[in-house]
Amino acid sequence: MQTADPNANKARHDPLEKVPVAQEPEMTEGVITHIQRFSVHDGPGIRTTVFLKGCQMRCAWCHNPETLRRAAELQVFAELCIGCGACVERCRRQAHEVVDDSRVFHRDRCVGCGRCAQTCYAKALVLVGETRTADEVAQELFVDREFYESSGGGVTISGGEPLMQPEFTRAILALCKRNGIHTALETNFAREWSFIEPLLTLVDLFCVDIKLLDDVEHKKWTGISNRQTLDNLRRLDTARKPVIVRTPVIAGLNDRPEQIHAIVDWLGSLFNVIRYELLPYHPLGAGKYLALGHNQPPQWFKAPAPHIFEQLTQIASLQRKP
Ligand code: SF4
Ligand code: SF4
Repeated sequence: MQTADPNANKARHDPLEKVPVAQEPEMTEGVITHIQRFSVHDGPGIRTTVFLKGCQMRCAWCHNPETLRRAAELQVFAELCIGCGACVERCRRQAHEVVDDSRVFHRDRCVGCGRCAQTCYAKALVLVGETRTADEVAQELFVDREFYESSGGGVTISGGEPLMQPEFTRAILALCKRNGIHTALETNFAREWSFIEPLLTLVDLFCVDIKLLDDVEHKKWTGISNRQTLDNLRRLDTARKPVIVRTPVIAGLNDRPEQIHAIVDWLGSLFNVIRYELLPYHPLGAGKYLALGHNQPPQWFKAPAPHIFEQLTQIASLQRKP
């Protein structure tokens, strides 16, 4: 008598195999900066995170300035330039010019086509931002499905702000859900609820930033109000969708105990918060600001002192667990 193999009917998944994701390819297009595999900080388990380009906030301390603008753009690392002049030849818009033996870049003429970056051997020119279809992104995400299944992980859509490309975000999430993959959305939540509601059935875990509870300070440091974010968090609570709330902590800006206490108290009225996390600031983006033609953030932005961060972490842990 033959013994039935309990695994006989289980789908065997070759991670290198192209996974069929839908009857028709999902052709909705969007702009991403990159896709990061084996991420362990963007939700549970091993994850792949897609970083979308474009954000409506202008946090003064942002360390990912390459995600601020929606369109593809050129990073220019002038210190790496060897003066070969190849970019001047290659650009059809005369965005690169040689003036008095020096290469000059006119950002206002650049349309982000990337032709010059392809020809720059010195890597002084790097295009950031790539237009992809949701289907193309999904094919790349599904390569690591085995790891998601074995670790309890999945896919995270991040940015920038993914809600600035709502259709593209929805399309990627829908493909993931259709293929049984856990999904998380990292967002500042500062968009109308009508952009979020269609995602409720497609997102397993929301990760939402509250940067400051005081709205005057919030406007001062991010450029916009936090009212929409807080209103959406209440609606998400009513919808009973789980959420991890996060605060990036910057010394001298939002590292006073009363500021974290205020957020903890506000979250106390919600039932869906599974965790409140503090993230110490990392001043990583200064060089990127110059390469993208932005003003640099003030030098005084620093991570909080370790003993202060420890104190704040204890306050944050007062958040009631459901
Ligand atoms: S192609 Fe690169 S190395 Fe050559 S001049 Fe242009 S920026 Fe400089
Ligand atoms: S990205 Fe395109 S438009 Fe911009 S400078 Fe390079 S070649 Fe010119």
